[in-house]
Amino acid sequence: MPIVHLRDEGWEPTAFFFNPNIHPENEWLKRRDAMREAAMRLNVPLLEEGSPVNPGQWVRSLHGVLRQGERCRLCYRPRMERTAALAVEQGFDAFTTSLLYSRYQHHETIAEEAAKAAQACGATFLYRDFRTWWWEGIAMSKELGIYRQKWCGCILSMKDALTQQKEDKARKAAQKAERAARLAREAEERRLKKEAVAAHPNKRARKALARKAAQSTAAHEATLP
Ligand code: SF4
Repeated sequence: MPIVHLRDEGWEPTAFFFNPNIHPENEWLKRRDAMREAAMRLNVPLLEEGSPVNPGQWVRSLHGVLRQGERCRLCYRPRMERTAALAVEQGFDAFTTSLLYSRYQHHETIAEEAAKAAQACGATFLYRDFRTWWWEGIAMSKELGIYRQKWCGCILSMKDALTQQKEDKARKAAQKAERAARLAREAEERRLKKEAVAAHPNKRARKALARKAAQSTAAHEATLP
């Protein structure tokens, strides 16, 4: 989406793929290939730099700043610094970043790091809030059939995503079990009612039995955790 909207504004963008914090290596390759595919389909020139970095090496370089958000600033920084430097080297009028499209990233931190990187080397940072086009971007990536990432990038975000997946799975299983138990209880109540009708055609006696069944269900539910 950033490319499409920059073009709408009259810019002639060049894409730059540079992200050392995509782990593991096969994920880095998938995203690099997806970038190549998108660049080809959008007919935009593509510059590439870097190669997959060992996840352990990156985690060690954080010196204990592992918390999501705090480590992200340290992750954005070299990416913005290299992009700003490249913009100067190649004589581009300005640079921006597709990170500003994501609703899951720390938008203000990215803008701060990009502005700092621009100032340090004399580049121009073009701030845009591409999140406005979030849904259009998703629709477009589906339409183009381009690979969509399941985690942010680094090994820590991959672990976070896996933990989240496990929690979602456990929550869904618990909901399913709860629903099955409720349906079973309701079926049992219906069965008891039917039995009562068959055994006691008298209305008053049936009512008394129904009350008893309801009390016994309530007592059973009260013992549930
Ligand atoms: S979660 Fe994403 S932005 Fe944050 S450190 Fe990992 S790869 Fe970088």
